[in-house]
Amino acid sequence: MSSGNIQAETFFYDEKTDRTIPLFELNNNLTNKTRVSYHRNADTANYHYGPFHPMKPFRLRLTDNLVTGYGLHNIMDLYEVDLEQNYNINMLEDKILKFHSKEYLNFLKNLNDNSDQENKKYLIKNDIDDNDCPIFHGLYKYCLNYTSTTLSAVECIKQKKSDIAINWSGGLHHAKKFKPSGFCYLNDIVVGILDLLKTHARVLYIDIDIHHGDGVQEAFYLTDRVFTISFHKYGGYFFPMTGALQETGVAKGKNYCLNVPLMDGIKDYEYTQLFKSIITPLVESYNPECVVLQCGTDSLGYDRLGTFNLTVKGHGECVKYVKSLGIPLVLVGGGGYTPPNVSRAWCYETGIANDLILREKLPDNLPFKDYYSPDYSLYPELGDSILTDMNSKTFLNDTRIRLLEQIRYLQGAPSVRMDSEYIPSKDIQEIMMYLKKPDKEVLEYDDICNTDYEKTDKVLEHERILQMLKEDSRAGYL
Ligand SMILES: [Zn+2]
Repeated sequence: MSSGNIQAETFFYDEKTDRTIPLFELNNNLTNKTRVSYHRNADTANYHYGPFHPMKPFRLRLTDNLVTGYGLHNIMDLYEVDLEQNYNINMLEDKILKFHSKEYLNFLKNLNDNSDQENKKYLIKNDIDDNDCPIFHGLYKYCLNYTSTTLSAVECIKQKKSDIAINWSGGLHHAKKFKPSGFCYLNDIVVGILDLLKTHARVLYIDIDIHHGDGVQEAFYLTDRVFTISFHKYGGYFFPMTGALQETGVAKGKNYCLNVPLMDGIKDYEYTQLFKSIITPLVESYNPECVVLQCGTDSLGYDRLGTFNLTVKGHGECVKYVKSLGIPLVLVGGGGYTPPNVSRAWCYETGIANDLILREKLPDNLPFKDYYSPDYSLYPELGDSILTDMNSKTFLNDTRIRLLEQIRYLQGAPSVRMDSEYIPSKDIQEIMMYLKKPDKEVLEYDDICNTDYEKTDKVLEHERILQMLKEDSRAGYL
């Protein structure tokens, strides 16, 4: 054989070898495989917010294609949620109404039957931004799809069928009790957690989307049964402009809420170090029975709306860490506006859930493979044109110290009556807005109860809001 032939054969051989590298390998020699369930509704990817809108449900199809391209569907329990085939819509709506108001649900339900004028009236009355949250064809079905898929994941955790249950179409953390917000219409996370609370005493909600998880925080602001923590960009007019360090819960929920406000450009090492150093003592103190992790991918570098510099591996490191805690886990999606990167991260994290290391080179015969050019890699490098990291060491250290101090206020895990109610039927946004005012104007709930003071208009207003909550038969906090 001539050397020329060897070279030619070697070249050919390399290509072939490349193709025969396994798509994934085991991360470690675990004897007990993590039981993972993957919940999806193929129809959810078919909806469209409008041509210029950054939210593209199509990213879910890219994710499913990657997950199946790597063969992961063969090693997980796959749940195909189909509202027409296997769902009781009335039961689903009952669960949604545990959080959302009847008026709002009816509005979503009747959108396509209502006249434009009627819809406009509701939008104006409730101060709804229909640029962010447009009314598009089939909107209600889209909402039911992703919410029922989260509930399907929750059901597997409730019945102890899964250690980790995944719904990448869920995680719409901005939706409010009475209205949509930030591309989110129904808050599948709140609806899912309320369902989880029937079987689990304490739920920890962690949010790594670049935006503050305001809708979930607000829903559980008054209770100790759900601890919410959100890592996000904060400052200026960055949406939703909430999530300051000082927002820590009120009444019975006081100290059961943490916020980690960050600045532009944070990178993997700094982010994951901070994440682990906070989550570790928090889990030790709160001792949650279940964790819900919102994995919004707009915290990745080069996101269309985001301003952080996380890589797929850095983002996934948070998932890996939470998984290592060994607590039943629900993984949901969230933001993410550069679709190929969204699908890369969620596929990588599906691999992590299954204790697998996925091959860097994307599978052959992947539909829409050109979306991943030029590298065709699951873990592309970020390159040089990233944003400057504005988070100084001092800033991050100060933030960490303040958060750790707050965790010290937790006096162990609260024991709770499983039948207690958690969501007040009144709008607590009023309280939230009030508490956002400068410190000197705000009197904490305990101060109001225990102190003699001159009753200013502000205090009287605060008392009125608290009284309103007391009168609410379902709000057992006050
Ligand atoms: Zn987001």
